[in-house]
Amino acid sequence: MSDDTGDDTLVARESVLGIDIGGTKLAAALVSADGTILTGDRIRTPAGGADQVFAALGELIDRVRGDAAPLAVGVGSAGPLDLQHGLVSPVNIPGWRNFPLVDRVRAVAGAVPVTLGMDGHCFALGEYWSGAGRDAKTLLGIVVSTGVGGGLVVDGKPLIGQSGNAAHIGHVVVDQDGEACACGSYGCVEAYASGPRMVARAQRSGWRTDEDVDAEVLAADAAAGDELALAAFDDGAQALAAGIVATAVTVDLTTVVIGGGVAKAGPVLFDPVQAWAKRLAQLPFVTDLTVVPAQLDNAGLLGAAHQAWAALS
Ligand SMILES: [Zn+2]
Repeated sequence: MSDDTGDDTLVARESVLGIDIGGTKLAAALVSADGTILTGDRIRTPAGGADQVFAALGELIDRVRGDAAPLAVGVGSAGPLDLQHGLVSPVNIPGWRNFPLVDRVRAVAGAVPVTLGMDGHCFALGEYWSGAGRDAKTLLGIVVSTGVGGGLVVDGKPLIGQSGNAAHIGHVVVDQDGEACACGSYGCVEAYASGPRMVARAQRSGWRTDEDVDAEVLAADAAAGDELALAAFDDGAQALAAGIVATAVTVDLTTVVIGGGVAKAGPVLFDPVQAWAKRLAQLPFVTDLTVVPAQLDNAGLLGAAHQAWAALS
């Protein structure tokens, strides 16, 4: 190394390394204490075995870190996770099953704290730190995409639970006699509100039968006034609102932030969610509950970085 003066402001500024592990992309960034991304990059999640996937992540980490010396590393990952042992088994990364991600990251990161959190928890924390949930007292973050996940932030800290799986909002039962859910239970929020479930529901009612369509097409049709598409969004919104209100009365919630691919549908999702939430939230301490769209496209990454900063304080 020819230049170790550290005069580059980017290198000189204190930072942590945030890492976001998902089935479609891997992202990393150096993040300052005020939530500024100093530098970052992302790659498509490679297919392949455990070491192949980690080699790509290792290269990404090296490239993003450059000559900087991050004080800690925060990793957010799709679940399931074994937080106690630092293992990850992301459903959409088949090469990683009980993969010792924390140990492997530690081996490349050096002698700094390495934290691990579930992607939904990091999403909530990121939106709380610098997105739509700023200034919220108690926040529920929800990610609506092919599934429904989420995270809770209570008094500025993620509520992770004893196994690290708190805030599985997608599996709050809102109709015990309802549709079978992938988790084995019945009438879960996810069984009505995930993108594929809303599409399937709409098709069962006669919408674009026999076509290969997705939630984006459903959203476009709903926005254009298609009654069947609107009805599917209304059913999903009703389930989401019921799950939201159940959570709100349980933890005295002030703010709900909804992101994920399906949330990009905009008003066709948010209008009915807000209307149903207003109708169902009747106890005085939840009548001011706000439900808003996410503001960040990298909330998970920022939340992972926030966790790393918290590990240092
Ligand atoms: Zn379920």
